[in-house]
Amino acid sequence: MTKYLIVGAGLFGATFAYEAAKKGHEVKVIERRNHIAGNIFTKEVDGIQVHQYGAHIFHTSNKKVWDYVNQFAEFNRYTNSPVANYHGEIYNLPFNMNTFNKLWGVVTPEEAQAKIDEQKSILNGKRPENLEEQAISLVGTDIYEKLIKGYTEKQWGRSTKDLPAFIIRRLPVRLTYDNNYFNDDYQGIPVGGYTQIVEKMLASDLITVETGVDFFDKKDEYLKEFDRIIFTGMIDEYFNYSLGELEYRSLKFETEKLDVDNYQGNAVVNYTDAETPFTRIIEHKHFEFGKSDKNKTVITREYPKTWKRGDEPYYPVNNTKNNTLYKQYKELADRKAKNVLFGGRLGQYRYYDMDQVISAALNVVKAEIGD
Ligand SMILES: Cc1cc2nc3c(=O)[nH]c(=O)nc-3n(C[C@H](O)[C@H](O)[C@H](O)COP(=O)(O)OP(=O)(O)OC[C@H]3O[C@@H](n4cnc5c(N)ncnc54)[C@H](O)[C@@H]3O)c2cc1C
Repeated sequence: MTKYLIVGAGLFGATFAYEAAKKGHEVKVIERRNHIAGNIFTKEVDGIQVHQYGAHIFHTSNKKVWDYVNQFAEFNRYTNSPVANYHGEIYNLPFNMNTFNKLWGVVTPEEAQAKIDEQKSILNGKRPENLEEQAISLVGTDIYEKLIKGYTEKQWGRSTKDLPAFIIRRLPVRLTYDNNYFNDDYQGIPVGGYTQIVEKMLASDLITVETGVDFFDKKDEYLKEFDRIIFTGMIDEYFNYSLGELEYRSLKFETEKLDVDNYQGNAVVNYTDAETPFTRIIEHKHFEFGKSDKNKTVITREYPKTWKRGDEPYYPVNNTKNNTLYKQYKELADRKAKNVLFGGRLGQYRYYDMDQVISAALNVVKAEIGD
């Protein structure tokens, strides 16, 4: 039997804990925040499951992961169909025939494609050198101006002319009247929220959980006390930023309770103009089809911001510079932290969706403990 310490009670840590305990190992989970579930944490407010750290839609084409997560919750039939608000004009996302019809009045896929091709041609076949040129080369000028430019500049805090082209290698353009944002086989929201999934994963008698505890307060003691450590925090922080800081994007969430039944008619509305300071508004009750009380709703405005030490690091910035630095930290970890496994979004500095995090954790379990 191995004594495991898991740092971080997010989806990666919880999946590992669940599997390790199932195989008879003793597990302690510590979490810096005052609650479990990491970024998938949801909390009930007036009968509404509020996604505390931004809209979370479970989607996957991995049947094994879908079956796995369905052990812990029942999923509803929610389909992500966000809309864009550009100065009060509403467009369907992802870019599809509904979007093109509203923009240009075109009706057939052939007409839409011709319009996109005509607008792309202003680049005269030039190889895109920045995000602006890349976007225009993929979808033309109108979509770029109304639906990409302002939104992307707010997200990254920089002009699209100063952002590298690779950020948007592809843009989903769909020549069908289909507003489903994802192409995956399975999609939904857990009825009753996400937190219950992690609660159930951590319910074993072999697992103890402590929240409000920071690994770095007792790092040396933990290293002595436990056989193996699964670390799902920031890999650069683990090494006290000794090789330099990795970059992250952070977010500010502003949540408000309102005495109205239906504020915006959709779970997710993106504000794609440059003037509105937030990128989107989430109206949480629509994730569960507004089954909660009439005349009450909860909305969250999401403001992107640059990460600095002390902020929550939500997104890794996977450009060449950071990926190279991450590789150096990984090499350092392989040499200097042999009893520590780095996992999850922050430990592996990778943009993981929930299904990928579960899959990655199951792979680590297999390599570490076996089937
Ligand atoms: C705004 C936003 C929207 C998203 N939307 C979707 C979506 O729609 N669909 C989807 O599939 N995925 C989505 N994701 C991704 C999803 O949140 C992640 O895949 C998942 O939560 C990652 O789990 P994790 O365990 O790796 O990390 P986390 O959830 O970040 O868990 C890591 C935990 O470790 C804790 N920790 C860190 N350092 C320490 C320390 N020193 N001591 C103790 N504890 C520590 C942290 O507090 C945190 O709770 C979204 C992410 C964000 C940020």
